[in-house]
Amino acid sequence: MSDEGDRPATLLATAGRRKEWTRGIVNPPVWHASTILFDDVAALRAAGRNPDAGLYYGRRGTPTQWALAEALTQLEPGAAGTVLHSSGAQAVATALLAVLAPGDELLMVDTAYEPTRAVCGGILKKIGIVTRYYDPLLNADAVAALFGPNTKAVFLESPGSLTFEVQDVPGIAAKARAAGIVSLIDNTWATSLLLPAISLGVDISITALTKYVGGHSDLMMGATTARAGFFETVRKTSQGLGQVVGPDDAALCLRGLRTMELRLRAHEAGALKVARWLGGRAEVGVVLHPALPSCPGHDLWARDFRGSSGLFSFSLKQADDAGRTRFIDGLRHFGIGYSWGGYESLALPIDPRPIRTARPWTTEGAFVRLHIGLEDADDLIADLEAGFARIAG
Ligand SMILES: *Cc1c(COP(=O)(O)O)cnc(C)c1O
Repeated sequence: MSDEGDRPATLLATAGRRKEWTRGIVNPPVWHASTILFDDVAALRAAGRNPDAGLYYGRRGTPTQWALAEALTQLEPGAAGTVLHSSGAQAVATALLAVLAPGDELLMVDTAYEPTRAVCGGILKKIGIVTRYYDPLLNADAVAALFGPNTKAVFLESPGSLTFEVQDVPGIAAKARAAGIVSLIDNTWATSLLLPAISLGVDISITALTKYVGGHSDLMMGATTARAGFFETVRKTSQGLGQVVGPDDAALCLRGLRTMELRLRAHEAGALKVARWLGGRAEVGVVLHPALPSCPGHDLWARDFRGSSGLFSFSLKQADDAGRTRFIDGLRHFGIGYSWGGYESLALPIDPRPIRTARPWTTEGAFVRLHIGLEDADDLIADLEAGFARIAG
């Protein structure tokens, strides 16, 4: 059993393994269920009144899903509970729908994951929720200066998608709290292991489990972990929307979680080695990795984070799109595709310019986002070095 004082690596081995769920088997059973049968009408009625009563109907889950949700809660100090969603994008949409109502304003960081922007400009806009984008480099006072009479929520993503600006997470969360505004963070890059967001003052922490928690590029899932009050609101919204995750994916995700600390440390070491090597190359313009001083917000990263993960970007100084394409297409060890967080390395051409609205992206160069997997970093470096020779064509 887990204990509040246990360190993260220990918690990863023990979390969610309640004896009443596992019955002594190491892992919780994979229980497929729609109908749950009750002993009598009284038991059926009693369970219906209490969302925490246990088995009720398949949509409320079984110990398979509960074990994963409880493990994620135990890894996030200060959290009251976790809601599981069928993807990270669904987690973002559900959390926003839970805390916002027509007429409210949402402050959204300009570096948000693109599908998050799509939720704001789509569903939220349709029901009369206004999104105002803010510059990721604003300090907490400047973000607070944007709070208006209708502002109900402020959304952070730190580091930012594609360009990795680090925000003042505790500072902005404290300003929001003082103003009665809900703070939410997309914490997918760091996970609660590298950034315990709720203990830093954030109300709702969202993780795309698809990435480092699953860790093997074979499942889609998301989680919303929140403090008391917000957890119940998100759960109610999620249940109202009829959301549930399948038991097979929940079990797969829990299996990934057990090794997450170990994997994150390997991703971190590999990514730092590759990023530092890129930083010393004449072909490279800028390396955007929160653990390197060249990354905007690096000082905040050093203050608040317990480490870095495997995803970062860099620019090719001389390359146009064709040169960048030749560079990426010939890589042997980097797959070309969306998502990240698996054991394998990925490379993606990126262009932040058309996405930004609050702070134009003006940095020159053709950008590439890398996810550094668990391969030997020296093999990855050799692969990238060979790529530089292809740029000129
Ligand atoms: C991938 C990702 C998501 C969405 O997760 P899915 O499971 O792919 O829907 C949300 N936020 C960030 C930062 C991501 O990288």
